[in-house]
Amino acid sequence: MVHHRVGRSHIDYLGLIQTIPSLIVVADREDVIWFSNREWDVFTGLDASTIDGTSWINAIHPLDIHKIGNARARALAGDGGTDLAARLQARDGNFRNLHFHVAPFDLASGDRGWYLMGMHGCPFKAAETELDSKSNMSASETKRHGELAELRRITAQFREGQRLSSTGSFTSDLQRDENRWSEEFYRIFEIDADAPPTVDRVRERVHPDDLALFESEIERGRTGHNGDFEFRVITPKGGLRYIRGIARMIYNLDGRPIFMGIVQDVTESRLSEMTLRKRECELRQANYHLTIAQELSKTGIFVWNLSSDESRWSDEMYRIFDATPSSTPWAEALELVHPMDRPSVGSMISRARSGEDFQGEFRLIMRDGTTKNIKTVGRLLADEAGKTFVGAVQDITEARQQEEALNRVRADLAHVARVSALGTLSASIAHEVSQPLAGILNNANACLRMLSADSPDLEKALETVRRSLRDATRAAEVVKRLRALFMREALTVEAVDLNEAAREVGAILRSEFWRGLVLLDLRLDETIPKVRGDRIQLQQVILNLFLNALEAVSSGGGDDRRVRAETKFNGGCVTLSVSDTGIGLGPDTEKLFDAFHTTKDNRMGIGLSVSRAIVESLDGKIGAKQNKERGATFYFSIPRYAN
Ligand code: ADP
Repeated sequence: MVHHRVGRSHIDYLGLIQTIPSLIVVADREDVIWFSNREWDVFTGLDASTIDGTSWINAIHPLDIHKIGNARARALAGDGGTDLAARLQARDGNFRNLHFHVAPFDLASGDRGWYLMGMHGCPFKAAETELDSKSNMSASETKRHGELAELRRITAQFREGQRLSSTGSFTSDLQRDENRWSEEFYRIFEIDADAPPTVDRVRERVHPDDLALFESEIERGRTGHNGDFEFRVITPKGGLRYIRGIARMIYNLDGRPIFMGIVQDVTESRLSEMTLRKRECELRQANYHLTIAQELSKTGIFVWNLSSDESRWSDEMYRIFDATPSSTPWAEALELVHPMDRPSVGSMISRARSGEDFQGEFRLIMRDGTTKNIKTVGRLLADEAGKTFVGAVQDITEARQQEEALNRVRADLAHVARVSALGTLSASIAHEVSQPLAGILNNANACLRMLSADSPDLEKALETVRRSLRDATRAAEVVKRLRALFMREALTVEAVDLNEAAREVGAILRSEFWRGLVLLDLRLDETIPKVRGDRIQLQQVILNLFLNALEAVSSGGGDDRRVRAETKFNGGCVTLSVSDTGIGLGPDTEKLFDAFHTTKDNRMGIGLSVSRAIVESLDGKIGAKQNKERGATFYFSIPRYAN
């Protein structure tokens, strides 16, 4: 029981309230402030003379407002007092955790109001006083002072963080247009720091095209929705900024939505995103053009990593190989390689595996039976530790076909020229030889008549025989002259490299062999000496042997379609032999080298006879033999060149 020494009316209640070390606010039903004590004013820096209406609520931490709001609702409903912990913003801008008691309080007007009392965990003086009397601080004051310094440091960091990340923060009561903005918020929108924070200030800055969006987001906010949207603002100097605003809804004491959020200046990233997008667009376009160019040129591109054995193919690669995208496209593609080209493709691949650039041509047999001619090149990238090949594959079928058609025309023309030349030649042979032959025939008849008469005229008969002899000699002369005509007049006898001659002829006939699907296999001994001869003539011989062999294989029609040319040196002579897997030799091998001997329709049968004449004129030998298994071998030997 308390005894009062003086009457109640003599006590200075207000003075009492002002001295107790707790923060007190009294408010009405509408949360309008009626009274705040000094402890409150000093702590929050918001004294009763400067705050009005409900703005005192801003000092309560936004995330704790609902707690006080609930307690207030109970108090107004007459449910008594509630104790709770909540954060309150001190004048330095930092939040401190306080213990609150919220209870009903009847106002002088008779209306039901409520009060809020915030209590510190231990007795302490208001922050400002504390700083002033640093010299004789108690242990708890020192501790508090340390905490305050720490809070200041965190606040400074927070400000710096906002500045660095171009992020401003705000709380906003949209229904009453009561806002609190951080320094960075002002800076981002370039709003004068002294200007009261209203939505209108921001609205003024919004880009006209984004105004509708801005309004609808504010409207949504008013009705209590979270927001996250981007809009542009135009600064007073006419600059354009991209702003992202994110707001989260919390509740005020009376349950009104309050927004807490950030605005971020995303101009830089948006602009770089835009250049990036533009570049990406250009890249995509370049890629598209490249794809078209690949299609037009029928060229596929691949990247092949040697260490992982992984490959990337362009679309055209898949088209060329008629392949379906798979993890092992090469395996599928290599299956198509023409059996005869597999060895060369195989060696190309192993050369590539050992890190050499490659280049080559081969054929594919597609699933529908058609043939494709392919050309490929690959180059090791210098910059990737020598592990990646970049290459191209081109479908040159069309070009090859055109080339072959051209070659065929050329060959036909040459043939026609040869035939017509020989036709003319034959006519003159016929003419030159038929005269002496007619003479011989006449003389022989006359001779017969004379000798079979009753009294043979031996003298005259002898005369006719002599005339026959003369005509026969003339015929022989004609033939000799003609043969001389066949041979070139002036022969240049020089040192001829038969390997080189054979290689050249091989190159000339390459497409003929290609077309006939016959493999020309040159096994040349590189150590052989040069021979004595005329290079052009010797090449004519080699050409004849190669062509005959090719024709023999073509008409032989077997699976093993090869012509092999070998050179070797033996007994002072170089021998070049050409063996084939063709039809082989018939029974009359002696006649092979005779002029006009042929087993082919529409051919003259003079190739081998001319060849023999050439070889023999160089003191060489020419011959042919039947192979044991298949086909024939033709060969000739020429003495080595000796100076
Ligand atoms: P042509 O080729 O115009 O017939 P050649 O004098 O070059 O004239 O050949 C004469 C004949 O010799 C050919 O018709 C052919 O019967 C035969 N012959 C030539 N080379 C071969 C060969 N490699 N295999 C089989 N027969 C051949």
